[in-house]
Amino acid sequence: MIEIPAAAVLARNIDIVQDVGSLRARLAAWRRTGEAIGLIPTMGALHAGHISLLRKAKRYARRAVVSIFVNPAQFAPSEDFAAYPRSLEKDMALIEAAQGDLVFAPCVEEMFAEGFATAINVAGPAAAGLEDRFRPTHFAGVALIVAKLFNQCRPDFAIFGEKDFQQLKVVERMARDLDFELQILSAPTVRETDGLALSSRNIYLAAEERARAPLLYAALSISVSAIKEGVPISRALELGRAMLNEAGFAVDYFEARHAESLKPIALQGDGPLRLLAAARLGRTRLIDNLAV
Ligand code: AMP
Repeated sequence: MIEIPAAAVLARNIDIVQDVGSLRARLAAWRRTGEAIGLIPTMGALHAGHISLLRKAKRYARRAVVSIFVNPAQFAPSEDFAAYPRSLEKDMALIEAAQGDLVFAPCVEEMFAEGFATAINVAGPAAAGLEDRFRPTHFAGVALIVAKLFNQCRPDFAIFGEKDFQQLKVVERMARDLDFELQILSAPTVRETDGLALSSRNIYLAAEERARAPLLYAALSISVSAIKEGVPISRALELGRAMLNEAGFAVDYFEARHAESLKPIALQGDGPLRLLAAARLGRTRLIDNLAV
Protein backbone atom coordinates (compact mmCIF):
# COMPACT_ATOMS: atom_id res chain seq x y z
CA MET A 1 0.00 0.00 0.00
CA ILE A 2 1.31 3.45 -0.86
CA GLU A 3 1.38 5.72 2.12
CA ILE A 4 -0.11 9.13 1.35
CA PRO A 5 1.73 11.86 3.24
CA ALA A 6 -0.56 13.62 5.70
CA ALA A 7 0.09 16.97 3.98
CA ALA A 8 -1.37 15.67 0.75
CA VAL A 9 -4.49 14.51 2.59
CA LEU A 10 -4.93 17.64 4.64
CA ALA A 11 -3.99 20.29 2.11
CA ARG A 12 -4.69 19.43 -1.51
CA ASN A 13 -5.18 22.83 -3.10
CA ILE A 14 -2.46 24.93 -1.60
CA ASP A 15 0.91 25.07 -3.34
CA ILE A 16 4.25 25.29 -1.64
CA VAL A 17 7.44 26.65 -3.19
CA GLN A 18 10.83 26.44 -1.54
CA ASP A 19 13.12 28.45 -3.78
CA VAL A 20 13.10 32.10 -4.82
CA GLY A 21 13.04 31.32 -8.56
CA SER A 22 9.78 29.34 -8.31
CA LEU A 23 8.29 31.95 -6.00
CA ARG A 24 9.03 34.75 -8.48
CA ALA A 25 7.61 32.74 -11.40
CA ARG A 26 4.34 32.15 -9.53
CA LEU A 27 4.01 35.76 -8.44
CA ALA A 28 4.90 37.14 -11.88
CA ALA A 29 1.97 35.23 -13.39
CA TRP A 30 -0.43 36.82 -10.87
CA ARG A 31 1.07 40.25 -11.40
CA ARG A 32 0.66 40.00 -15.18
CA THR A 33 -3.09 39.61 -14.74
CA GLY A 34 -3.19 42.54 -12.32
CA GLU A 35 -3.87 40.54 -9.17
CA ALA A 36 -2.83 42.27 -5.95
CA ILE A 37 -0.57 40.26 -3.64
CA GLY A 38 -0.40 40.35 0.16
CA LEU A 39 2.44 38.77 2.14
CA ILE A 40 2.20 37.33 5.65
CA PRO A 41 5.67 36.55 7.03
CA THR A 42 5.64 33.85 9.74
CA MET A 43 7.84 31.30 11.44
CA GLY A 44 5.15 28.62 11.10
CA ALA A 45 3.54 26.70 13.99
CA LEU A 46 0.48 28.64 12.92
CA HIS A 47 -2.44 29.49 15.19
CA ALA A 48 -5.55 31.66 14.96
CA GLY A 49 -3.43 34.84 15.33
CA HIS A 50 -1.50 34.08 12.14
CA ILE A 51 -4.70 33.07 10.37
CA SER A 52 -6.33 36.39 11.28
CA LEU A 53 -3.51 38.10 9.31
CA LEU A 54 -4.17 35.82 6.36
CA ARG A 55 -7.91 36.53 6.45
CA LYS A 56 -7.19 40.26 6.51
CA ALA A 57 -4.84 39.89 3.53
CA LYS A 58 -7.59 38.16 1.57
CA ARG A 59 -9.92 41.09 2.22
CA TYR A 60 -7.43 43.46 0.58
CA ALA A 61 -5.87 41.33 -2.16
CA ARG A 62 -6.83 38.57 -4.58
CA ARG A 63 -3.69 36.63 -3.62
CA ALA A 64 -2.09 35.95 -0.25
CA VAL A 65 1.34 34.40 0.21
CA VAL A 66 2.30 33.01 3.62
CA SER A 67 6.03 32.64 4.21
CA ILE A 68 7.17 30.08 6.74
CA PHE A 69 10.79 30.40 7.80
CA VAL A 70 12.23 29.80 11.24
CA ASN A 71 14.85 32.49 10.92
CA PRO A 72 18.09 31.55 12.67
CA ALA A 73 19.30 35.16 12.46
CA GLN A 74 16.68 36.36 14.94
CA PHE A 75 17.52 33.81 17.64
CA ALA A 76 20.42 34.35 20.02
CA PRO A 77 22.66 31.28 20.56
CA SER A 78 21.04 30.80 23.99
CA GLU A 79 17.51 30.81 22.53
CA ASP A 80 15.20 28.08 21.23
CA PHE A 81 15.99 27.94 17.49
CA ALA A 82 16.41 24.14 17.41
CA ALA A 83 13.41 23.50 19.67
CA TYR A 84 11.10 26.06 18.01
CA PRO A 85 7.89 24.19 17.03
CA ARG A 86 7.62 23.17 13.38
CA SER A 87 4.34 21.80 11.98
CA LEU A 88 4.33 22.31 8.22
CA GLU A 89 1.56 19.82 7.43
CA LYS A 90 -0.88 21.34 9.91
CA ASP A 91 0.16 24.84 8.81
CA MET A 92 -0.63 24.00 5.18
CA ALA A 93 -4.08 22.73 6.11
CA LEU A 94 -4.84 25.90 8.10
CA ILE A 95 -3.63 28.13 5.25
CA GLU A 96 -5.72 26.22 2.74
CA ALA A 97 -8.81 26.48 4.94
CA ALA A 98 -8.33 30.27 5.16
CA GLN A 99 -8.00 30.54 1.35
CA GLY A 100 -4.28 31.25 1.26
CA ASP A 101 -2.86 30.99 -2.26
CA LEU A 102 0.77 30.02 -1.83
CA VAL A 103 3.22 28.99 0.89
CA PHE A 104 6.85 30.04 0.58
CA ALA A 105 8.96 27.83 2.84
CA PRO A 106 12.64 28.27 1.99
CA CYS A 107 15.41 26.36 3.73
CA VAL A 108 18.20 28.19 5.56
CA GLU A 109 20.61 27.76 2.62
CA GLU A 110 18.10 29.37 0.25
CA MET A 111 17.93 32.47 2.46
CA PHE A 112 21.61 32.57 3.42
CA ALA A 113 23.74 31.63 0.42
CA GLU A 114 27.34 30.72 1.08
CA GLY A 115 29.35 33.85 1.82
CA PHE A 116 26.30 35.84 2.96
CA ALA A 117 27.70 39.03 4.45
CA THR A 118 25.03 41.75 4.65
CA ALA A 119 23.43 43.21 7.76
CA ILE A 120 20.59 45.66 8.38
CA ASN A 121 20.76 47.78 11.49
CA VAL A 122 17.56 49.61 12.44
CA ALA A 123 18.44 52.23 15.04
CA GLY A 124 16.37 55.01 16.63
CA PRO A 125 13.55 54.90 19.17
CA ALA A 126 11.55 52.09 17.52
CA ALA A 127 14.39 49.63 17.94
CA ALA A 128 15.85 51.01 21.17
CA GLY A 129 15.16 49.42 24.54
CA LEU A 130 12.32 46.97 25.35
CA GLU A 131 13.08 43.72 23.44
CA ASP A 132 16.39 45.08 22.22
CA ARG A 133 17.69 45.27 25.79
CA PHE A 134 17.14 41.52 26.28
CA ARG A 135 17.60 40.30 22.70
CA PRO A 136 20.23 42.68 21.25
CA THR A 137 20.64 40.83 17.93
CA HIS A 138 16.94 40.08 17.42
CA PHE A 139 15.72 43.02 15.32
CA ALA A 140 18.73 42.95 13.00
CA GLY A 141 17.79 39.34 12.24
CA VAL A 142 14.12 40.20 11.77
CA ALA A 143 14.85 43.24 9.56
CA LEU A 144 17.21 41.23 7.37
CA ILE A 145 14.75 38.42 6.68
CA VAL A 146 11.77 40.75 6.25
CA ALA A 147 13.76 42.87 3.77
CA LYS A 148 14.71 39.76 1.82
CA LEU A 149 11.08 38.56 1.79
CA PHE A 150 9.95 41.98 0.55
CA ASN A 151 12.46 41.79 -2.32
CA GLN A 152 11.67 38.17 -3.11
CA CYS A 153 7.88 38.62 -3.14
CA ARG A 154 7.52 42.32 -4.03
CA PRO A 155 3.99 42.24 -2.51
CA ASP A 156 1.55 45.15 -2.62
CA PHE A 157 1.40 44.94 1.16
CA ALA A 158 2.65 42.86 4.06
CA ILE A 159 0.74 42.26 7.30
CA PHE A 160 2.21 42.06 10.79
CA GLY A 161 0.53 41.42 14.15
CA GLU A 162 0.27 43.99 16.92
CA LYS A 163 1.21 41.09 19.22
CA ASP A 164 4.84 41.91 18.32
CA PHE A 165 4.29 45.64 18.49
CA GLN A 166 7.94 46.69 18.57
CA GLN A 167 8.66 44.41 15.61
CA LEU A 168 5.80 46.09 13.72
CA LYS A 169 7.33 49.52 14.39
CA VAL A 170 10.84 48.35 13.42
CA VAL A 171 9.52 46.91 10.16
CA GLU A 172 7.56 50.11 9.40
CA ARG A 173 10.72 52.15 9.98
CA MET A 174 12.87 49.89 7.82
CA ALA A 175 10.35 49.81 4.95
CA ARG A 176 10.18 53.60 4.94
CA ASP A 177 13.93 54.11 5.26
CA LEU A 178 14.82 51.64 2.49
CA ASP A 179 12.02 52.77 0.11
CA PHE A 180 10.26 49.44 -0.16
CA GLU A 181 7.34 49.99 -2.48
CA LEU A 182 4.67 48.35 -0.36
CA GLN A 183 2.27 49.11 2.44
CA ILE A 184 2.70 47.73 5.94
CA LEU A 185 -0.63 46.72 7.48
CA SER A 186 -1.23 45.52 11.01
CA ALA A 187 -3.86 43.44 12.78
CA PRO A 188 -4.95 43.24 16.43
CA THR A 189 -3.71 40.56 18.82
CA VAL A 190 -5.81 37.39 18.92
CA ARG A 191 -6.24 36.07 22.47
CA GLU A 192 -7.45 33.00 24.29
CA THR A 193 -10.74 33.55 26.12
CA ASP A 194 -8.78 34.14 29.34
CA GLY A 195 -6.78 36.94 27.71
CA LEU A 196 -3.50 35.15 26.98
CA ALA A 197 -2.16 36.28 23.61
CA LEU A 198 -1.83 33.35 21.21
CA SER A 199 1.80 32.48 20.61
CA SER A 200 3.60 29.51 19.07
CA ARG A 201 5.68 29.41 22.26
CA ASN A 202 2.67 28.94 24.60
CA ILE A 203 3.12 25.18 24.18
CA TYR A 204 6.24 25.50 26.34
CA LEU A 205 4.06 26.43 29.35
CA ALA A 206 3.54 23.70 31.95
CA ALA A 207 -0.13 23.35 33.00
CA GLU A 208 0.40 25.31 36.19
CA GLU A 209 2.24 28.09 34.29
CA ARG A 210 -0.48 28.17 31.64
CA ALA A 211 -2.99 28.87 34.42
CA ARG A 212 -0.95 31.91 35.56
CA ALA A 213 0.01 33.16 32.08
CA PRO A 214 -3.14 35.31 31.50
CA LEU A 215 -1.96 37.52 34.36
CA LEU A 216 0.37 39.29 31.92
CA TYR A 217 -2.63 40.61 29.99
CA ALA A 218 -4.49 41.25 33.26
CA ALA A 219 -1.58 43.32 34.59
CA LEU A 220 -1.42 45.36 31.38
CA SER A 221 -5.19 45.88 31.54
CA ILE A 222 -5.05 47.05 35.16
CA SER A 223 -2.23 49.51 34.40
CA VAL A 224 -4.11 50.84 31.37
CA SER A 225 -7.26 51.34 33.46
CA ALA A 226 -5.27 53.11 36.17
CA ILE A 227 -3.71 55.50 33.64
CA LYS A 228 -7.14 56.20 32.17
CA GLU A 229 -8.40 57.01 35.67
CA GLY A 230 -5.61 59.56 36.08
CA VAL A 231 -3.10 57.57 38.13
CA PRO A 232 0.41 58.83 37.24
CA ILE A 233 2.07 56.61 34.61
CA SER A 234 5.00 55.55 36.83
CA ARG A 235 2.61 54.49 39.61
CA ALA A 236 0.32 52.64 37.19
CA LEU A 237 3.31 50.72 35.82
CA GLU A 238 4.41 49.83 39.36
CA LEU A 239 0.95 48.32 39.98
CA GLY A 240 1.26 46.05 36.97
CA ARG A 241 4.85 45.04 37.74
CA ALA A 242 4.00 44.26 41.37
CA MET A 243 1.10 42.08 40.29
CA LEU A 244 3.39 40.03 38.05
CA ASN A 245 6.19 39.78 40.60
CA GLU A 246 3.75 38.53 43.22
CA ALA A 247 2.52 35.85 40.82
CA GLY A 248 6.07 34.59 40.29
CA PHE A 249 6.83 36.14 36.89
CA ALA A 250 10.35 37.44 36.25
CA VAL A 251 9.58 40.78 34.57
CA ASP A 252 12.00 41.82 31.81
CA TYR A 253 10.21 45.11 31.16
CA PHE A 254 6.81 46.69 31.74
CA GLU A 255 6.89 50.14 30.15
CA ALA A 256 4.87 52.94 28.58
CA ARG A 257 5.90 54.21 25.15
CA HIS A 258 4.60 56.62 22.55
CA ALA A 259 2.27 54.44 20.46
CA GLU A 260 3.72 55.62 17.14
CA SER A 261 7.39 56.43 17.69
CA LEU A 262 7.93 54.13 20.70
CA LYS A 263 9.79 56.98 22.41
CA PRO A 264 9.70 56.67 26.22
CA ILE A 265 6.85 58.67 27.76
CA ALA A 266 6.69 59.73 31.37
CA LEU A 267 3.66 62.04 31.44
CA GLN A 268 0.16 61.54 30.20
CA GLY A 269 -0.68 64.00 27.46
CA ASP A 270 2.69 63.55 25.74
CA GLY A 271 0.96 61.57 22.98
CA PRO A 272 -0.91 58.30 22.41
CA LEU A 273 0.35 55.63 24.78
CA ARG A 274 1.04 51.94 24.48
CA LEU A 275 2.10 49.69 27.33
CA LEU A 276 4.54 46.95 26.40
CA ALA A 277 5.70 44.07 28.59
CA ALA A 278 7.83 40.95 28.59
CA ALA A 279 7.98 38.51 31.47
CA ARG A 280 9.27 35.02 32.01
CA LEU A 281 7.35 32.15 33.57
CA GLY A 282 9.77 29.29 34.13
CA ARG A 283 11.58 28.83 30.82
CA THR A 284 8.87 30.52 28.75
CA ARG A 285 9.16 34.18 27.85
CA LEU A 286 5.85 35.92 27.16
CA ILE A 287 5.42 39.31 25.51
CA ASP A 288 2.28 41.39 25.20
CA ASN A 289 1.16 45.01 24.81
CA LEU A 290 -1.96 47.13 25.07
CA ALA A 291 -3.09 50.53 23.85
CA VAL A 292 -4.11 53.06 26.49
P1 AMP B 1 5.68 34.58 14.24
O1 AMP B 1 5.37 33.35 13.47
O2 AMP B 1 5.54 34.42 15.71
O3 AMP B 1 6.96 35.22 13.81
O4 AMP B 1 4.53 35.61 13.87
C1 AMP B 1 4.22 35.91 12.53
C2 AMP B 1 3.25 37.05 12.50
O5 AMP B 1 2.07 36.71 13.23
C3 AMP B 1 3.81 38.31 13.17
O6 AMP B 1 3.42 39.45 12.43
C4 AMP B 1 3.15 38.29 14.53
O7 AMP B 1 3.01 39.57 15.11
C5 AMP B 1 1.79 37.71 14.19
N1 AMP B 1 1.16 37.13 15.38
C6 AMP B 1 1.71 36.26 16.26
N2 AMP B 1 0.86 36.01 17.27
C7 AMP B 1 -0.26 36.73 17.03
C8 AMP B 1 -1.51 36.91 17.71
N3 AMP B 1 -1.78 36.29 18.86
N4 AMP B 1 -2.42 37.75 17.17
C9 AMP B 1 -2.16 38.40 15.99
N5 AMP B 1 -1.01 38.27 15.30
C10 AMP B 1 -0.06 37.46 15.82
